[in-house]
Amino acid sequence: MNGSDLTALSIAELQALLRRREISTREVLEKLRDRIAATEPQIDAYLSLDFDEALRQAERADVNLPLGGVPIAIKDIISVAGQPCTCASRILQNYRAPYDATIIRKLREAGAIPFGKTNMDEFAMGASTENSSVKLTRNPWDPSRVPGGSSGGSAAAVAAGTAFGALGTDTGGSIRQPAALSGVVGFKPSYGRVSRFGLVAFASSLDQAGPLTRTVRDAALLLNAIAGPDPRDSTCLNEVVPDYTADLGRDLRGVRLGLPKEYMIEGIAPEVRAAIDQAAAHFTSLGAEIIEVSLPHTEYAIASYYMIACAEASANLARFDGVRFGHRAENPSNLLDHYNRTRAEGFGPEVKRRIILGTYVLSSGYYEAYYARAQKVRTLIRRDFADAFAKVDALISPTSPVPAFPFGERSSDPLQMYLADIFTNAASLAGICGISLPCGFAKTEGGRQLPIGLQLLGKALDEGRILQIAHAYEQSTEWHKQRPPIGETSNAQRPTPNAQR
Ligand code: GLN
Repeated sequence: MNGSDLTALSIAELQALLRRREISTREVLEKLRDRIAATEPQIDAYLSLDFDEALRQAERADVNLPLGGVPIAIKDIISVAGQPCTCASRILQNYRAPYDATIIRKLREAGAIPFGKTNMDEFAMGASTENSSVKLTRNPWDPSRVPGGSSGGSAAAVAAGTAFGALGTDTGGSIRQPAALSGVVGFKPSYGRVSRFGLVAFASSLDQAGPLTRTVRDAALLLNAIAGPDPRDSTCLNEVVPDYTADLGRDLRGVRLGLPKEYMIEGIAPEVRAAIDQAAAHFTSLGAEIIEVSLPHTEYAIASYYMIACAEASANLARFDGVRFGHRAENPSNLLDHYNRTRAEGFGPEVKRRIILGTYVLSSGYYEAYYARAQKVRTLIRRDFADAFAKVDALISPTSPVPAFPFGERSSDPLQMYLADIFTNAASLAGICGISLPCGFAKTEGGRQLPIGLQLLGKALDEGRILQIAHAYEQSTEWHKQRPPIGETSNAQRPTPNAQR
């Protein structure tokens, strides 16, 4: 098996080789390092790599553990002891995490090896990874386009074969949307299913970490490892973790799937709509029943999400004041000057925009009109889903209204970027779980294929059911077997995206 065949394996396939001793953990890491060296100049998915430490861990790896010897990439918002944790922000440029996030500790206990940190929108604010203060990450299917965001580095690495699996975070779509745009599987767990201890907080009532992988089974394997109670996070639910692989392989007879009529809006690309229609027909052929449902408050989801997310961000990001860690302005004339310049120099434009928006909606006189009202809408959205789940087992929709878009197309207009979240924000507000998986391709004028993502949403703590339904779809289609045309030609073009900062 050559290097790029090996690095294209699923986690489950890799484990089989490791357990049969057909390959060693060290060899896996070396092949991965070669693949990264060959393709990373075209993709730029990583902010930092630590193969020396990974190779040390490989010496002790127990391949019989659930994820024994499997290298996993980590979004740079999740603390890995001793490694940088920059959130792709200048304000954390030289910061290293002093401890492991709970999900990293759990990954290590399951035998996985975190070896690198992936690029992202600064503090996870964005949907294209263009808000990274460090660099642009390119979509492996078409390097002139974004990989999605904010977990764009994680999605691109998994798609490009430079990670067997990755962790991302999803506050309003940041696991599902980049998974859709990069043609991989992304799973957002229900709020509270996974510990947030050791994640840099963006919007604490919404943030959840979850896996990005090449198959649904791999997502279940990673979720098995990271889910579960944590005394260090009081919002983490005290619920036992089932084996999320247990129901994979069960058929779909009798399963009821809801198509929310409000999600079939104008503005969905025709190829995306066609792919979702085709997916619905495919589910019927697998024995599922498709039912039209209504989520009447859908049109208010983006507005209330951005009020709540920005409000929480403005409070959470107050800790970056240059006193105890992170960037500090030089020679301040007084304390106010120290704060002002530290934050002006450290934060990028989108982060500043959100701090200002969030501070405004929380300010006295406006709190009731904006923040309190957004919370009421959040309750209505939660009820919409509860009503829908009284009728169906899961909902299906596009993950993103459009496939991967070109650099610069949306980054100059924040509202356009916010609209990318139209199908993902509501589920985050409701705290339910969701997955995105490949369900087709659109074609660019240049003849390139762009992946399309299917979103399945399930009620809170019903991740096993969503994985079962997604797996049945995946295993009866071929979409997930396609690989992006990366690293196959020696003269792959290096694009010059027009970053708008
Ligand atoms: N695109 C959304 C935002 O910019 C979602 C981000 C996320 O889920 N972290 O807030």
